[in-house]
Amino acid sequence: MQIYKVGGAVRDRLLGRSVSDIDWLVVGATVDQMQALGYRPVGADFPVFIHPRTGEEYALARTERKSGRGYGGFTFHASPDVTLEEDLIRRDLTINAMAEDELGNLYDPYHGKKDLEQRLLRHVSPAFAEDPLRVLRVARFAARYAPLGFRVADETRELMRRISASGELQALTAERSWKEIERALMEDQPQVFIQVLRDCGALKVLMPEVDALLDKQQSHTLQALEQAAGEQLPLHVRWACLLHELTDLDQAKALNQRFKAPRESQELALLVVECQTLCHGALELSAAELIELLQKFDVYRRPQRLEDFIAACQAQARSRGENQAYPQADYLRGAAAVAKAVDVKGLVEKGLTGQALGEALKEARLTALEAYRQR
Ligand code: ATP
Ligand code: MG
Repeated sequence: MQIYKVGGAVRDRLLGRSVSDIDWLVVGATVDQMQALGYRPVGADFPVFIHPRTGEEYALARTERKSGRGYGGFTFHASPDVTLEEDLIRRDLTINAMAEDELGNLYDPYHGKKDLEQRLLRHVSPAFAEDPLRVLRVARFAARYAPLGFRVADETRELMRRISASGELQALTAERSWKEIERALMEDQPQVFIQVLRDCGALKVLMPEVDALLDKQQSHTLQALEQAAGEQLPLHVRWACLLHELTDLDQAKALNQRFKAPRESQELALLVVECQTLCHGALELSAAELIELLQKFDVYRRPQRLEDFIAACQAQARSRGENQAYPQADYLRGAAAVAKAVDVKGLVEKGLTGQALGEALKEARLTALEAYRQR
């Protein structure tokens, strides 16, 4: 049997980037041989093994054929006679279809190295169209390598356009799509992911609500997303920035649900769509409005949520070229601190309970916030 390093590890080493996880490919072996060597089988669909010591993934060489709609509609053929070239041709991009043997020799039948040098994301073969997830993968790699000057090859963009128009993107499961979206949003240039999807017509299918926003001249969606990434904000804040210009909560809900976004992301996107104008206008809010906002965020029990909300609003404002200092941020933090500092214990010691306690507490916070506003 022959063992090769494949995919991202080869690509990133040639690019001089750090390699996080290594994928291995085993040619000329059977499942029984692998198990006899102590590899632990994982994955029900195709033969992938975990190395007993390093924990790294070893896949048997395989070919794939599409047998129906969606990702379920794939048949795999893994056997010792599948060659390296046959395995590599089923991969998405030429830069992902290179292999390296134990001596460090490069196997590059589809000219990935040349495309790396020319900064081109190019599909390996027409079989690319068999898995629509590859449209999202290409957009994600475009986002990741944008700082290095990579772009999508014309013929690949054309193929992505045809896939998007075919209706196949709708067959993707929420889980597979979200995994790509999540990884793309966490790249340094996530706005490139959205732009590439838009350029090939995929955004119109996947996120028509966002696509429509970008048609508008004055849209700041991409800028806000870029700003959030530049500030290295977490996933849910980036998702909220992507959705922030939706005027309609129902649209935000639809997007949240379409991709089964994690709860934290869903929640923050809705809060931003609903309350961002209050944040931008925080300095003008009355004490009662401040209380209501803090209450809505349940800031007494969940302080981080207000921080995330502020971060999303601040990123938007900054991306519009407004005051980079964004005084609203510290003003809201100060208001939260003042409301929190109200002496609950004192009120309880006075014998107040239930509704009476709630009202007294609100009254005390109102008074404290009135004073805060006069400062
Ligand atoms: P990353 O640095 O993001 O892990 P990667 O290239 O290693 O990048 P993986 O998702 O780990 O990406 O996949 C490993 C390899 O498997 C890819 O380089 C590619 O050759 C192949 N691959 C993965 N998913 C697909 C797919 N949907 N279609 C075709 N090839 C794929
Ligand atoms: Mg990988």
